[in-house]
Amino acid sequence: MPGERETLEMDVLLVGAGPASLACALHLTNLITTHNERVKKGSGGKQLGDVSIGIIEKAAEIGAHQLSGAVLDPFTLSELIPDFESEGAPLEAPVGDEHVYFLTQQGKVSMPVIPPPLRNHGNFVVSINKLVRWLGEKCEAAGINIFPEFPGAEMLYDGDSDRVVGVRTGDKGIDKNGKPKPNFEPGVNIRAKVTVLGEGPRGSLTKRLVSRLGLDAESDPQVYSVGVKELWEMPDDRFGPGNVIHTLGWPLDPETFGGSWVYGMRDRIIDIGHVVGLDYRDPRVDPHHEFQLLKTHPLIKDLLRGGKMIRYGAKAMPVGGWYTVPRLSAAGLLIAGDSGALLNGERLKGIHLAIKSGMQAAEVILEALVSDDFSGQKLADYDRKVKDGPIGQELYKSRNFHQAFDRGRTFGMVVAGISSVTGGRLPVRLPIHAGHEHLRRIALFDGDRYAGFKPDGTLTFDKVTDVFYSGTEHSEDQPCHLKVADTNICVDRCTREYGNPCQNFCPANVYEMVEESRGGRRLQINFSNCVHCKTCDIMDPYQIIDWVPPEGGGGPNYRNM
Ligand SMILES: Cc1cc2nc3c(=O)[nH]c(=O)nc-3n(C[C@H](O)[C@H](O)[C@H](O)COP(=O)(O)OP(=O)(O)OC[C@H]3O[C@@H](n4cnc5c(N)ncnc54)[C@H](O)[C@@H]3O)c2cc1C
Repeated sequence: MPGERETLEMDVLLVGAGPASLACALHLTNLITTHNERVKKGSGGKQLGDVSIGIIEKAAEIGAHQLSGAVLDPFTLSELIPDFESEGAPLEAPVGDEHVYFLTQQGKVSMPVIPPPLRNHGNFVVSINKLVRWLGEKCEAAGINIFPEFPGAEMLYDGDSDRVVGVRTGDKGIDKNGKPKPNFEPGVNIRAKVTVLGEGPRGSLTKRLVSRLGLDAESDPQVYSVGVKELWEMPDDRFGPGNVIHTLGWPLDPETFGGSWVYGMRDRIIDIGHVVGLDYRDPRVDPHHEFQLLKTHPLIKDLLRGGKMIRYGAKAMPVGGWYTVPRLSAAGLLIAGDSGALLNGERLKGIHLAIKSGMQAAEVILEALVSDDFSGQKLADYDRKVKDGPIGQELYKSRNFHQAFDRGRTFGMVVAGISSVTGGRLPVRLPIHAGHEHLRRIALFDGDRYAGFKPDGTLTFDKVTDVFYSGTEHSEDQPCHLKVADTNICVDRCTREYGNPCQNFCPANVYEMVEESRGGRRLQINFSNCVHCKTCDIMDPYQIIDWVPPEGGGGPNYRNM
């Protein structure tokens, strides 16, 4: 490739501008200021001069690739920014009226008592896009450099050792055949004393690094769910800001984990979404389709009547909890937030834990800067802080939650109910398997799971229409960022064994098996539709799909999600 690859030196490099990295960068800046003031007043120790902190983000703008529910538990935001309300944190509303329903196809049973993990009194409905944009402004005001359109493409190691020394960012201007275009710009080697991976769920760098360093040697396999969501603009305020509904049951089958949320936002916006556990059994399950069906339930249909769908998106979340958390540190490296599985699946909440993990990472980095020691041993203090502190305490109580659902919904609801009363205690430790291992052969299922259902274009939509509302764009003239190791498997084995579930699990119509003019079929990858949810990387039965970041800036353009 033409062009010199530049090297940029930094003290601290954070990958991904999500709540984890932004909280880490902001807290670290505050800690450094306090430390230097103390040293100046004679408390001993060395002054830290200018510490350079940079955040790289693959989206064109902070927040554009962020999608969440979200109900925010504010306890860690209030530690990061104690007066967050008066500082203008973009909160939609405090949670007010809340309900949990178990749905049957036409009916609903209201839970007389809301299970404690789903109680949201004291929490806030928020849009994560707005929240991270606001945190980003705070970071920039504090002198932190944020580089949008810079995906981390490869980890940099010190020679042949496993010591992390930074990240190489993705090249720009490569055509679909892998040749440089006139606007070619090689990626930059960003070298740092410590690199923090805050890539969110199923991080592409994190996945390879965890495997290379064996950080998951003592943890259970990661498990995920995918959330598919829409925003609806309503003609009136029938579902005011702060109103909250959660549902379980229909349309999901009893072997599939999941449920829905409906949150009231400002300006007559209803935020509605549906979560499907990426450990379902039936390869015909289509998370986008399940969500469309949900909207035909009388409860939801009535709520959305007269409204207009204005946004769409999808994203995975790690739900395995405590037993699936890998080691979070190595020489020169820390992992924060969803990348480290620090999400409480029982509460469907991870923002507060991402913020806390970022803050704890900052505390450990400060000590490392002061002692000029970035060894694995020094940075392992972070694992101890996470496990022994509030994050560990919260995750430990829910340690058997998703594990119970590994055996289906009925078993899951009973066991999760018991474990929420006993603080997570069960007589045995329940095993958990990687989600794709649950898929059963297509031959065990008859016909079309969704026979008779056709989107009406008003209440329900097909995937292509929905993707339009995600604002997704990628230049078509670049290498496909969805690397399928062997497409012969798709055509032969997968067709026979699982009926090509990629066509179903992708919520953006990226994967299509198309007829060849000469006969036979081939896999067509419409990568420009990709909403970066990572479901394909997670749920592919043969684990031959590798999601890597496309050229910087490409992807969804989420607003208010
Ligand atoms: C459907 C859904 C509903 C949810 N509901 C709630 C809720 O109600 N309450 C709650 O508290 N939590 C909720 N969560 C979880 C919450 O959103 C996450 O826990 C939280 O966003 C994690 O923050 P993070 O910083 O770890 O990662 P993220 O928020 O995912 O941010 C990661 C960032 O890294 C960027 N990135 C990724 N890879 C690279 C790369 N290689 N190079 C550069 N940039 C990269 C991404 O573009 C993204 O901006 C929900 C999640 C989902 C998916």
